[in-house]
Amino acid sequence: MTKKNTLTDKEMKSWIDEKWGYEKLPMGGSVPYPGSSVFFKTGDWSAFKAVVTNETCTKCMKCFFLCPDSAIHMDDDRYPIMDFDYCKGCGICAEECPADAIEMKDLSQ
Ligand code: SF4
Ligand code: SF4
Repeated sequence: MTKKNTLTDKEMKSWIDEKWGYEKLPMGGSVPYPGSSVFFKTGDWSAFKAVVTNETCTKCMKCFFLCPDSAIHMDDDRYPIMDFDYCKGCGICAEECPADAIEMKDLSQ
């Protein structure tokens, strides 16, 4: 049976900061609690940004299903919207988009 998380968001953030600050991360990483990934804003260390061209997008939703960080949401018209708090710039969506509708912008330029 899955342990129910009884911490408030503030308590969980504090617990993660204390136990799992990035300097203390164990080899291979860890998921301390179900749902705790929301506190790890992977977009902070992204070097690339996934940008969609709606005119080219066919609304197939492949990017939505393949994003490893659940950083893609679909708007009411079923176009993808990237959440840059969590998009880590991996490029999977751009690589897999059958319509070539996603471009990876280099944030260092
Ligand atoms: S994979 Fe490409 S075509 Fe499909 S919804 Fe995403 S951006 Fe649009
Ligand atoms: S670049 Fe990676 S993390 Fe960002 S939206 Fe695309 S698949 Fe998700």
